[in-house]
Amino acid sequence: MPDFSRVWDVLVIGGGNAALCAAVTARMAGCSVLLIEHAPKAFRGGNSRHTRNMRTMHTAPTSVLTEAYLEDEYWDDLLRVTGGQTDEHLARMTIRLTQEALPFMEGCGVRFQPSLSGTLSLSRTNAFFLGGGKALVNAYYATAERLGIDILYDTEAVDLKMDDGFVREVVIDHRGFPETVRAKTVVASSGGFQADLEWLERGWGPAARNFLIRGTPYAKGKVLRNLLDQGVGQVGDPTQCHAVAIDGRAPKFDGGIVTRLDCVPFSVVVNKHGERFYDEGEDVWPKRYAIWGRLVAQQPDQVAYAIIDVKSEKLFMPSVFPAIKADTVGELAAKLGLDPAAVEKTVAEFNAACVPGEFNSTGLDGCRTEGLTPPKTHWARPITDAPFIGYPLRPGITFTYLGVKVDENARVLMDDGKPSANLFASGEIMAGSILGKGYLAGFGMAIGTVFGRIAGREAARNARN
Ligand SMILES: Cc1cc2nc3c(=O)[nH]c(=O)nc-3n(C[C@H](O)[C@H](O)[C@H](O)COP(=O)(O)OP(=O)(O)OC[C@H]3O[C@@H](n4cnc5c(N)ncnc54)[C@H](O)[C@@H]3O)c2cc1C
Repeated sequence: MPDFSRVWDVLVIGGGNAALCAAVTARMAGCSVLLIEHAPKAFRGGNSRHTRNMRTMHTAPTSVLTEAYLEDEYWDDLLRVTGGQTDEHLARMTIRLTQEALPFMEGCGVRFQPSLSGTLSLSRTNAFFLGGGKALVNAYYATAERLGIDILYDTEAVDLKMDDGFVREVVIDHRGFPETVRAKTVVASSGGFQADLEWLERGWGPAARNFLIRGTPYAKGKVLRNLLDQGVGQVGDPTQCHAVAIDGRAPKFDGGIVTRLDCVPFSVVVNKHGERFYDEGEDVWPKRYAIWGRLVAQQPDQVAYAIIDVKSEKLFMPSVFPAIKADTVGELAAKLGLDPAAVEKTVAEFNAACVPGEFNSTGLDGCRTEGLTPPKTHWARPITDAPFIGYPLRPGITFTYLGVKVDENARVLMDDGKPSANLFASGEIMAGSILGKGYLAGFGMAIGTVFGRIAGREAARNARN
């Protein structure tokens, strides 16, 4: 049992990438640090343990990244996906600081995969973690233990007692027992609120009950709610979340990356009535995958079914769950629990509407339908060759956008714009300050790493003063 009568220099709330970067940085600056992670040890690491890469600026090829990826190009990419809902000053600072992040990460034992051939666009922009996010999180925990950071698992921050922007103490639930922690400074790195289905329901209505959460069940936003209720400044749209279409057989929580389904562009996608509802071939998948979570969420019972034939079987990364196969479209529909007659009609109408063209799975090919509503604009070719293959789809929530406002020193800002005296934030809980909408692959880890390090540095400075 830890000695709860002592006063730590820095208390870090959370156990994912952002928390670990803050804790290690503060400890390296000579502070005593307590890190509290709501999850038990076996499930430590939040959504960070599901990640694969970090988007990283670089001015020349490195051992893990090809060519160059400069600030302006990175910024343009961010501007495009956010539609301008970002803060240029904070965003450009984050982008620049990703360069310094790589040596820090390597110093903490994080290892990277050597860059691929250079033909894949992500090998230029994103550094891939060897062993994925789990290996990254384990490396940080090993470093934290080596440095003598106190770590409590199964420990939830319940209430940050704030007086006029100053966190006096933090009430925690330590393995079922209430305790009080005192620290000179506090870093909130407790992620989003996507695992709180009731909170999601307030934005989405009862449909949210059928959403699957791709990451940790421990990101319930308790700290976020607690801070907003005490006058901390809010950023981001409370009703927005990043949602993709995932395999409908995925578990309620923590299915991770392997449940993603990338077959939509080559499919007809029908709802539970066997009817199509959106152009599956509107654009290349990286530009469209993030809208399909929302589209499926708007269908009855929040479920849809992607149907292809054998011609498209090998064109996408397979789901961890086996494909459902049958010799006829009607048989497949029955296996998927759909009305065979309705699906046969939809597929027959689609097939009849396909205009002959040069099919090309790797780019916009103009293979389209004519006279069909909704149309399919690319990769439309008749579904005719057995076996016929189907996958159920459900909305998979990656993260929420609502967060706390921070300044460039990761200091939390109150409603009136004044900085808190001793509260800092990093990671998903403040990401809305930079990412107001949309998503750029690898930017979540960029924000968490950069702001984790700033929060750790500034918390240490604050504690010393
Ligand atoms: C399947 C999947 C794949 C992804 N892939 C990538 C990728 O490749 N690259 C990328 O950049 N981003 C990716 N992301 C997004 C990325 O996971 C997040 O942006 C990033 O992990 C956020 O880090 P964080 O530390 O802020 O939050 P998290 O890693 O979620 O950590 C939050 C932590 O807070 C703890 N916690 C919550 N509430 C409390 C409380 N009250 N008290 C104590 N502890 C609490 C949780 O247990 C958890 O440990 C992916 C997300 C998912 C779901």
